[in-house]
Parts: sequence; structure tokens; C-alpha cells
Amino acid sequence: MKIICIGRNYTKHIEELANEKPENPVIFMKPDSAVLLKKNPFIIPPFSQDIHYEVEILVKINRLGKFIDEKFAHKYYEEIGLGIDFTARDVQNKMKEKGLPWEKAKAFDGSAVIGRFFNKEDLNLNSIKFQLYKNEKLVQDGDSSHMLWKIDEIIAYVSQFFTLKIGDVIFTGTPAGVGRIEPNDQLKGILDGKEMFQIKVK
Ligand code: ZN
Repeated sequence: MKIICIGRNYTKHIEELANEKPENPVIFMKPDSAVLLKKNPFIIPPFSQDIHYEVEILVKINRLGKFIDEKFAHKYYEEIGLGIDFTARDVQNKMKEKGLPWEKAKAFDGSAVIGRFFNKEDLNLNSIKFQLYKNEKLVQDGDSSHMLWKIDEIIAYVSQFFTLKIGDVIFTGTPAGVGRIEPNDQLKGILDGKEMFQIKVK
């Protein structure tokens, strides 16, 4: 499986990082080796002093597709989940300055937390509420209605470049409130009022 991530999909997050609002979705990928294994802690890697959490709604692809029309995109996923796109912000800032690709900052081992999934029929896709708590304190509070590109638009756009396969996961971007983690932090993700994952930082 592959992980396709959308960057800059919420206006307030674009503003907090002083990024430009993109004309098209910003896309990057993580390899399958980036998935943090279930129940494992997240270990801060030695190459970064500034690892940020980014909580994101996930979409699991359940059908093979390429050049998917937006109006048929809903047929390509049944499950919606929640995860974290861990980011080495210090490394990313250096890559950005030099116009280099982001993989070292975004695609390293353990950087993709994939929590539980729900059937999309049980959710209001136009306004999925989700939160991230750090040490029981609310740090990110999102609503899918604030996405610049909605799930179906993302699928249509991404599939122009990359064939989507069964089991692929799309990270749909993070709302405002990203921040640094430290050893012993505890992260908890909530979607539609239900706990989707808990991560311990080491
Ligand atoms: Zn992200």
C-alpha cells in the first residue's frame, strides 16, 4: 500500500505556517515503512529537534482506479479514519528553503499513524468533527467542512497522477494547531466523538 498526503488543505493551518495558498492540492507520499505499528510508541528520531503532530482525516481506498471523475469518487472508498502525519518541522523548513523534496521530513519510519476506521455511512462527510488531545489538553480541533479540497476532489485530482489501489490511504491535511512533541507526551485522536488512536511518545 501507499500513503498519499495532502498538504495545505485548511486555511488556518496555511496561515499558521505562513505558507502560500496553493492553486492545486500539494501532494506528497509516505512509503509503507512509515506506518507506525499498532500499539508501538512513537520514538522521536535522532535527526530532528522539532517533531510536530498533524492530526488528519484518513480515507481508505477500496477499489482500483485511475483518472477518477469527481462524481464517481465516492465509489472508491467506504471507510474514514483518523491518523497523524508526524513531521520533522526543522528538517522540512530546511528542505523548503532550498526547494528540495520533503521525504526526509515527512516519510521517515513511524511518521504515519493510522488509527481505527468507520464506515462512511455512519458519518456526515460534509462536516466530520475531529480533535487531537496532547496530555489530555485539546490542541487541534478540526471540521472537514473547512477543507479547501473535499475528499472526492482529492481523489479525482490525485488519481490523475497515481493509480489508486485497494488499501491505499489518503491523509487529507491538517487543521490549525500543529505543535511540537516531547518524550512522554500522550496523544489521543477523536473522530465524531469516538477515540480512534492513542500514542505514547518516547
Ligand atoms: Zn499533514
